[in-house]
Amino acid sequence: MNPVYAALGTTIFEAMSARARASGAINLGQGFPDGPGPAPVLRAAAEALTARSNQYPPMAGIPELRLAVADHYRAAQGLDLSAEEVIVTSGATEALAAAILALVSPGDEVILLQPLYDAYLPLVERAGGVARLVRLEPPEWRVTEAMLEAVAGPRTRLIILNNPVNPLGTIMSAAELEAIARFCVGRDVIAICDEVWEHVVFDGARHRPLIGVSGMRDRTVKIGSAGKIFALTGWKVGWMCAAPALAQGLARAHQFLTFTTPPNLQWAVAEGLAKHGDWIAGASAGFQRSRDRLAAGLAAIGLRTTPSAATYFLSIDLAASGIAMDDRTFCEWMIERAGLVGIPISAFYAEAPVTHLVRLCFAKEDATLDAALERLGAALPELEIRA
Ligand code: PMP
Repeated sequence: MNPVYAALGTTIFEAMSARARASGAINLGQGFPDGPGPAPVLRAAAEALTARSNQYPPMAGIPELRLAVADHYRAAQGLDLSAEEVIVTSGATEALAAAILALVSPGDEVILLQPLYDAYLPLVERAGGVARLVRLEPPEWRVTEAMLEAVAGPRTRLIILNNPVNPLGTIMSAAELEAIARFCVGRDVIAICDEVWEHVVFDGARHRPLIGVSGMRDRTVKIGSAGKIFALTGWKVGWMCAAPALAQGLARAHQFLTFTTPPNLQWAVAEGLAKHGDWIAGASAGFQRSRDRLAAGLAAIGLRTTPSAATYFLSIDLAASGIAMDDRTFCEWMIERAGLVGIPISAFYAEAPVTHLVRLCFAKEDATLDAALERLGAALPELEIRA
């Protein structure tokens, strides 16, 4: 077996969901919402399945979806993408794999920011790349040009970033994006910007796409996911957007990964983006209410949390809450004693992990959040908590 996979375990999200299924624990681990998703988009998928072609769609995606993605980003983010610059993939996961396989050659150095989404590093290593890790520090978790310069060298080809950031729930500032852009332009580096959480932002925030920052139009691969936009995480419809010269290479990698994505889902997402954009803002407002419900409930039982400006996640801060356990021990305790599953943030590190944060998914029905809080509140007194 390739050594990258020989050394790799099962992703923490699958492992923790399996624990929840086996034990009946409430699953606030893996990030997926309770809700059914937008009814008209589901109907469009069902109708397309019976009324339209189920044969191979075009390799880069059905034209209606490529155009809908470009139009959507023009309206929502002021971008000037053409349909030809959008390549539809089977989820953002496939887009990441295709982009990394297309852009990384053996020996290339790739900058990754920690904490990192757990797919990035194995994909980079499988492509023969050498990861250069930049560690973001709490409480602000900000990246600067100096931090990037500190790990850069003549073989630096690529930076992979995630904005908004899973697991932190932070949004990169304009200053950070400009610093990344200056670095990329100065060093002739390409950026893969994983923006799957672009629409799950709260408190009136607006997402700033890196590809729209000065100097980045021709050197950014912007990755998106309908699974996140329409809260349908099982659909695995995503895309990568890039200038034609880059897009051509990305398509070559994509054609031998999945080649295409189920056509009925592509039509449904195209229709969703074109006609049901208003659902997206409403969904975010709902997730924001859920965030507030969980944060308030955790505060009421004496647990401190980190702020969440985006994503489906907030974290319990064990250290600030006076709990001396590390995140993995606390997650085990939660499953056993509270019947509740979370994700230890140390799983998002390749080295020197932060170990005092436990990620919880709040994209759940009120009753699920309330039940989780009740269980946790009832179990907490058995822990030694230092004031
Ligand atoms: N990137 C990030 C940062 C994610 O959080 C996720 C999903 N949790 C993905 C990529 C994968 O997205 P998809 O389901 O569309 O493959």
